[in-house]
Amino acid sequence: MSYNIPKTQKAAIVESHDAPIHIKDDHPVRQPEELAPGECLIKLDCTGVCHTDLHARKGDWPLPSKLPLIGGHEGVGKIVAIGAHTVSSPVNIGDRVGIKWLADSCLQCEQCRKGLEQSCAKAKLSGYTVDGTFSQYVVSYVSHVTPIPPNLSSEEAASFLCAGVTVYRALKYSKTNPGDWVVIPGAGGGLGHLAVQYATNAFGLRVVAVDTGEEKKKLCLELGAEKWIDFRESKDLVKDIKDAAGGDGPHAALVSAASSSAYEQAVDYLRPGGSLLVVGLPGKAQIGAPIFWTVVKSINIIGSYVGNRQDAREALEIAALGKAKCYLALKPLSALSEVYEGMEQGTVVGRVVLSMT
Ligand SMILES: [Zn+2]
Ligand SMILES: [Zn+2]
Repeated sequence: MSYNIPKTQKAAIVESHDAPIHIKDDHPVRQPEELAPGECLIKLDCTGVCHTDLHARKGDWPLPSKLPLIGGHEGVGKIVAIGAHTVSSPVNIGDRVGIKWLADSCLQCEQCRKGLEQSCAKAKLSGYTVDGTFSQYVVSYVSHVTPIPPNLSSEEAASFLCAGVTVYRALKYSKTNPGDWVVIPGAGGGLGHLAVQYATNAFGLRVVAVDTGEEKKKLCLELGAEKWIDFRESKDLVKDIKDAAGGDGPHAALVSAASSSAYEQAVDYLRPGGSLLVVGLPGKAQIGAPIFWTVVKSINIIGSYVGNRQDAREALEIAALGKAKCYLALKPLSALSEVYEGMEQGTVVGRVVLSMT
């Protein structure tokens, strides 16, 4: 099978961190003969937009990105070419696959051998250290692309490749049992609304959703949250969260907030033995947990960074079973700048997916 591959394409380019995003129509497409062994060329159907893309655009992380940069790491599309001399590829030309944050890793180091390939020192990051998915064609790596279950649409699958796998993995390693309580601050947002569904439908947890506004309240309760707290209306958030979770506080808190206070509060409201699942990636904020109470309450502070290849497959499989659905708005690539503005203002409900066709 071979595909007709154009020489140029539409792409959204970050030329420098303070220049506006440049949408180009004539960005070159890497041609099949230019692919190295292990690389593949993917024609994208769509791509999700993640908060990380906004950090890459602004350059406000301690980790430098490449420049000029094509951002994006929630892409879904079809493999249209595989580099010559690629050996034992787990995917074939014509397969529909996803591109996630972790584009590639060495597969040989201790972290890779232990399934912690996200933390591989040689990791390549989509839309950060290698060009990502805000373009019609993207080069990725056969070992790390994620096969998409046939009954999941590309639009629906996109956000599970980062937001979905991130919350799925954090909950998977949360040391909780079915019937336990989990609190999800930001439950109406991109990560949060997927976390509500994985928590209830995949892990049997009871959810306290924390966010603000009628629209987010309605969404969280529809998706299975048992309790709702509007943080703007709460006079004492720590007490309200404890009360909502049976008085002793939740067994786990999945926190993706950018502010350190959300993490510190969690140590206060978690019940003894509880887990603070740290999944946000603000550039500079610190966790200032009180050591005394962290020890006396035996609090687990667990950093969880996206997911490995297996986590991604599991997260997508659960979505394909209909147990997690993404609340998304489909927009054209040209809307990227306004999507970033919405993210900065906190007005995006659910997730934005850009159509690339
Ligand atoms: Zn992401
Ligand atoms: Zn490695």
